[in-house]
Amino acid sequence: MDLWYTEPHTKNVRFSIAIDRHLVTEQSYYQRIDVFQSVEFGKILTLDGYLMVTEKDEFIYHEMITHVAMATKLDAKNILVIGAGDGGTIRELTKYDTIENIDMVEIDERVVEICRQYLPQTASKLDDPRVHIYFEDGLRYVRKKQNEYDIIIVDSTDPFGPGEDLFTREFYGNCFKALKDDGILINQHESPYYEEDAKASKRTHRLISSVFPVSKVYQFHIPTYPSGHWLFGYASKGIDPVKDCDADGWNALGLSTKYYNTELHKGAFALPNYVKELLDNA
Ligand code: SAM
Repeated sequence: MDLWYTEPHTKNVRFSIAIDRHLVTEQSYYQRIDVFQSVEFGKILTLDGYLMVTEKDEFIYHEMITHVAMATKLDAKNILVIGAGDGGTIRELTKYDTIENIDMVEIDERVVEICRQYLPQTASKLDDPRVHIYFEDGLRYVRKKQNEYDIIIVDSTDPFGPGEDLFTREFYGNCFKALKDDGILINQHESPYYEEDAKASKRTHRLISSVFPVSKVYQFHIPTYPSGHWLFGYASKGIDPVKDCDADGWNALGLSTKYYNTELHKGAFALPNYVKELLDNA
């Protein structure tokens, strides 16, 4: 039998991965959760039919969402992660002995439970004693916080369903308030390529730029996301992601990474002209 996971990337484009077995399917209170065993990409997690994580290329996403901020703030001690139920971002953060506390706010407990069982590659560090998991809406959580975190990482789903509130001006304003004076916000910034994703990217940039004095965007390439070209946002109250990157300090830590390095860090902020134009017009 020929089994395929197929995701529409636009109305006219579909992306398919050959599947060996369908391991889990469950409707939680918030979303439909599926795990597949694929031939090419190992295990795959999808939420509401959208691909979140594959074992083969998750390192790209999780390294880039974590180390860019850390290399510009090596003294970060208190981190907030919103979403991230698969645990990959937490795994990367726990590589830093200097981090003292990681609060993770995930809306859907079932995502975490299923990832602990089926995706130990990403979920393996969720039990690190520095990690505290709160099963709550990220928007509501961050409303209560003031001047607390060195870095906030928003590792969310797309701007619809439970993730929608994490792409609002109110949310970014609350993140600003929850960060210390030299704090950094990293967010999932969608893709610049296909029209609908590009609209979301542009809108997100406009909202973040209206809240943070420094608002930049960086790119990475990941085979299983629409177009393979994806963006994260880097916003801060003053720290510049390129000028303030402490390459020597980061390299001296001797961390093992498969995608991120400090040369790529700088290059990731050099955007193609069509992306610059998209963001300039935001
Ligand atoms: N790498 C992923 C991607 O494709 O963009 C994101 C991974 S992670 C699985 C995203 C998580 O965000 C999901 O587990 C989802 O439950 C969580 N999430 C969505 N909306 C949320 C909210 N409002 N507050 C907290 N977590 C939320």
